Amino acid sequence: MQSRKLLIALFACMGILACKQEQEKKVENLEELQVYEEEPLDIYEFGFNLNDYVVKRDTIKPGDSFGVIMERNKLGYPEIFKIVQGAKDSFNIRTLQVGKPYTLLCAKDSLELPKCFIYQPNMEEFYVVNFQDSIHAYSSRKPIKYVEKTASGVINNNLSETLEELGLSYRLVNKMADEIYAWTIDFRRLQKGDRFKVIYTDKFIDDTIYAGVHDIKAAYFEHNNEPFYAFEFQTDSIKGIKDYFNDEAKNLRRAFLKMPVQFSRISSRYNLKRKIAYYGYKVRPHKGTDFAASVGTPILATANGTVIESARKGGNGNYVKIRHNATYSTQYLHMSKRKVNVGQFVKQGDVIGWVGMTGNTGGPHVCYRFWKNGVQVDPFREKLPEAEPISDNLKAKYLTFIQSIKSQLDSIQFEIPESPLNTEETLISSVK
Ligand SMILES: [Zn+2]
Repeated sequence: MQSRKLLIALFACMGILACKQEQEKKVENLEELQVYEEEPLDIYEFGFNLNDYVVKRDTIKPGDSFGVIMERNKLGYPEIFKIVQGAKDSFNIRTLQVGKPYTLLCAKDSLELPKCFIYQPNMEEFYVVNFQDSIHAYSSRKPIKYVEKTASGVINNNLSETLEELGLSYRLVNKMADEIYAWTIDFRRLQKGDRFKVIYTDKFIDDTIYAGVHDIKAAYFEHNNEPFYAFEFQTDSIKGIKDYFNDEAKNLRRAFLKMPVQFSRISSRYNLKRKIAYYGYKVRPHKGTDFAASVGTPILATANGTVIESARKGGNGNYVKIRHNATYSTQYLHMSKRKVNVGQFVKQGDVIGWVGMTGNTGGPHVCYRFWKNGVQVDPFREKLPEAEPISDNLKAKYLTFIQSIKSQLDSIQFEIPESPLNTEETLISSVK
C-alpha cells in the first residue's frame, strides 16, 4: 500500500515538472480540444447513440414504479398507461428493485420528455422499454469480453500482500487457495521465496467494466522448492464438470486417506458416549478413532499439510498434529517414535512416526484425531471432499491438452513484487 502511495506521489511530482515544461505546448493544443467539443464522438450504450438524447441516470428509490418515474419526468398519465399496456408482454414493470440503476433517454428539446426507459437488474442484463415511435420492450445483454492474462510473483510475506503489490485481484488468491490448491498447499503457511505463475481470464462487461477474475486456466505454485502444477480440465462435458489436475493427471483435490496405518483394524471408534470399566463405567468420550497395529508400523499423514505439533505429552504420549488447511487438522497419538518436526511440510502418505504404546494406552495402536474448524469430529461420518481420478481414456486426452498450456506456463518469468507489473493480455473471446 505504502509503496503505491509513494508511486502516486512520485507521479504527481513528475506531473508538476512536466506541466511547467509543457505549458507552451498546451496552449497550442487548445484549438484541437475545441474541435473535439464541436464534434462529440458517438457513444453507444444499450444499442443507442447516447449523443442523440439527454441521458438521465438514477437508481430505483423506495416507492418508485415505472409510472411514478415517468410522471416525475413530466409524462402524462394516458401516455404512461399506453406504454405499460404495450410493454407488459415483454417486461414486467412490477419487477423493479430498489437500488437498481435505470437510464432515461430523453428528447433533446426544452421539454426533455423521456423516449426510452432502460432498467438494469444486474451488471450484464438490461431491459429496454422504447416508446419514441411505437412501443416495444425487450431484454438484452451487454457485450462480454474475456481477456486472458498471465501473472507471476515471488512471495515475500503472504500471498495476498504479494498480489496487492503486483496489482492483482484478491479473487485470484481465493481461487488459488480455496479452489485449486486447498488440499495441496496450506496458504497460511507459505514460505518466503515461494513463487507462482498463473494463466487466468478476466471478464469485462461492455468492454470497459471490469467484472473480476472469471477463471483460472492453469497455475504453477512452488512451495518449499516443490513444484505444483494445476491445469483446469473438463472431465464431464455433459454436466460441465471441471476440475484441476497436476502435470501427471492426478487430481489436486485430495481426499484424506481412510486410515493413517495400512493393514490395521479399528479397535475403537469415535464415540462421545463411551463408558469405560476402568473409570467405573463413567462416560469418557472418545474423540478419536483407534487403529490397532503392531509396534513399529509406519504412521502416514492422511493428507498434505504442515506439522504444527510434534511432542511427548501426558496421556497422548508421542504425538504429531498436522494442519491441512484452514478447516482441517489431524492428530496421531501414542507413537513409539516421531519422525517429523514442527514446521515441516508433509505430503499425503508420508511416514510421520511409528505405532507405539506411549501415553495412556492399553495396547499398541494409533489414536487418530480429526479436527474440523477446531472441533474433533468423526472422519467416518464427515462428508469429505472426494478426489475423482481422471478416467483412463481421458488421461491421454488430458496430457495432450495440457502440453501447450504447460509450455506457456513454463515460459512465464517470475515477477519480483517491487518491479513494475508485466502482465500479458490476449483477447480470447468476445460475446456480442
Ligand atoms: Zn483413541
